[in-house]
Amino acid sequence: MTDSPLFYQAGPTLPEVSHADGVTLWDTRGKAYLDGCSGAISCNLGHGRQDIRNAMLAQLDRVAFTYRTQFENAPALALGRALVELTDGALEKVFFVCSGSEAVESALKLARQYVVATDEPQRRRFVSLRPSYHGSTLGALGVTGYHPLEAPFTELTHASLKVAGPDFYRHQDADDDAHVDRVLAETRTAIEAAGPESIIAFILEPVGGASTGARLLGERYLKGIRALCDDVGCLLILDEVLTGLGRTGTWFAWQHYGVIPDLLVTAKGLGAGYYPVGALLARDDIVSKVMANGGFQHGHTYAGNPLACATGLAVIEAIRRERLLDNTRARGEQLEAGLRTLAERYPWVGHVRGLGLLWGVELVADPATRQPFPAGQNRFAQITALAKEEGLLIYPRRTLDGVAGDHFLVTPPLTIRAQEVGTLLERLGRAMARFDQALA
Ligand code: PMP
Repeated sequence: MTDSPLFYQAGPTLPEVSHADGVTLWDTRGKAYLDGCSGAISCNLGHGRQDIRNAMLAQLDRVAFTYRTQFENAPALALGRALVELTDGALEKVFFVCSGSEAVESALKLARQYVVATDEPQRRRFVSLRPSYHGSTLGALGVTGYHPLEAPFTELTHASLKVAGPDFYRHQDADDDAHVDRVLAETRTAIEAAGPESIIAFILEPVGGASTGARLLGERYLKGIRALCDDVGCLLILDEVLTGLGRTGTWFAWQHYGVIPDLLVTAKGLGAGYYPVGALLARDDIVSKVMANGGFQHGHTYAGNPLACATGLAVIEAIRRERLLDNTRARGEQLEAGLRTLAERYPWVGHVRGLGLLWGVELVADPATRQPFPAGQNRFAQITALAKEEGLLIYPRRTLDGVAGDHFLVTPPLTIRAQEVGTLLERLGRAMARFDQALA
């Protein structure tokens, strides 16, 4: 028994946060930490923003909460319009939720109701990637490809058909294109075996997040999946909970590849750590069909409340005003160059990959064979702890499915300045040097 009433957090060994400003957080002992992972890749604007505070306070003073069945609210309408605009009009309808898991859950349910409304009720299965992470609620967990999270609940979830995505680090094919073509062919075969007429939708992240250490899927693969979905007659859902709102240098990651989804979910960066806001965006004809067939049977109490939406709007305005997509691309290049320089020093850095300000570093026991460190050694946790000692927060994970391997993510706020990227790299460099000594 500890004296803490909380049972989710790791507990009393964690430092207690005092306050934060920009890319820096301080604990109650006065130690400063550079936020190299934007909290949970969510605090995209950094901490202590007066503009967001002021927008939230102004809304609080007017009205914080109204229920969607009782009032329309202007911030929700404005945020809905703003999100549609960010998709260049590709997706015309918006449904608000409070988290990424809820957004995924909503997408799965809307997709199911759509196939029922279009007289294809035999479509009852989703396809997703392994490894992947789409959230912790039972529906989202069903499409998640991450064994330790799935294991206790396999009898309660509706498991999707899990297929492998491309792996540009470990494949043995002649070249990347040949690899993608093989992976796509295998996916097509798996769907054919399962029955194409049974598939509701394919759900995937256009750039891998925490579960894969920022693995890129690439244009050829994503275009191939779009074509495959069209052939199968199923929907394409892109999970941009992590990549949405500028993380990769465009508003949404699909905009790098020109692959337009039928449904899109986003969350983390929309509230930017100031308020939980998530959204499902969908094609108008999909929503219309469902609405004409009895309506969408789904909703959450706090979804789309005025305070949440005023926060999301202020976040989008700040990204525009401060040209943060440009900053993300520029600082992303600087970060990439620094990470690659550090990687060259150490044989245990197997792969550095990413886009914008979403970077993954994979650690391996043997660079020649690309053999991962044994699972029990928890290398990802060691390097994260060393970075923290050096005053840097990074996002740790071990990929437990498909490609086994330790990795960490470097995903600072999109507001980070050049000098701060320098500090981040210095601290990471010190942590990596200490990790190397400990390995020797
Ligand atoms: N999808 C992806 C791609 C995510 O990264 C996450 C969160 N890490 C989720 C869904 C779930 O979001 P939340 O934690 O807000 O429920």
